[in-house]
Amino acid sequence: PRPARKAPPPPAGIDGVKAVIAVASGKGGVGKSTVAVNLALALSKLGLKVGLLDADIYGPSVPKMLGLTERPLGENGKFIPLQKYGIKAISIGLFLADDEATIWRGPMVQSALVQMINDGLWAPLDVLVIDMPPGTGDVQLTIAQRVPLKGAVIVSTPQDVALADARRGIAMFRKTQVPVLGIVENMSTFICPNCGHESHIFGHGGARETAARLGEPFLGEIPLNTAIRLTSDAGTPIVAAAPDTPEARAFLLIAEQV
Ligand code: ADP
Repeated sequence: PRPARKAPPPPAGIDGVKAVIAVASGKGGVGKSTVAVNLALALSKLGLKVGLLDADIYGPSVPKMLGLTERPLGENGKFIPLQKYGIKAISIGLFLADDEATIWRGPMVQSALVQMINDGLWAPLDVLVIDMPPGTGDVQLTIAQRVPLKGAVIVSTPQDVALADARRGIAMFRKTQVPVLGIVENMSTFICPNCGHESHIFGHGGARETAARLGEPFLGEIPLNTAIRLTSDAGTPIVAAAPDTPEARAFLLIAEQV
């Protein structure tokens, strides 16, 4: 029998940062970054001091979604997060040349991420939202073990394939003793802007059922909606661009629960 491995020590807190929340998904393309960005903006609308860290090494989308282009400035070995729409934000994409991420090895990615968290002048923050890379590989595991997470928000579409991967994500957080704050169903109901007909392009209700089955909270549904996509593409996410629309309110409802 193999000798029992000692559990890693619990991660130390980040000075001046009250809580860190990971936004994760099992699968790519389900809207994890869209939720992370709009959740961060919604938390800020609730009066919190918010930071957003884009750790999605495979497809950093926060620069585009927030319209960030500058390289963050350094100061004594630390760097200053950029400011946009009242939040502080940093993306691994801002430190990388185009296509560089794809050739990084796991340990490089991991140390870069831990550095972005520890060497960023984030304080004072009430909450730091981390847009995680999709999946449950080494990088995600490192973050779960080395970053003092208050909990994780899991994003899934209602499709079975996405939900199966979401369950794997939940299993990883449970294994690393990170509380699951709840599941969000993204790309849920689509309402035709011409005739008002409701359709369920990726299905409906699957995330709520999965949450109930696993005994985790269900945080709400985000509709499949053209304005959500267009505002993200334009660098002014819906919660910043049109906070009074039903789509933006769906994100605010989630922010109130985490
Ligand atoms: P992930 O981070 O999971 O890879 P993204 O947040 O980058 O996914 O979303 C993938 C694409 O889907 C983006 O173009 C985004 O604008 C779009 N998208 C995400 N959520 C929605 C939604 N609820 N309605 C419409 N488009 C969406």
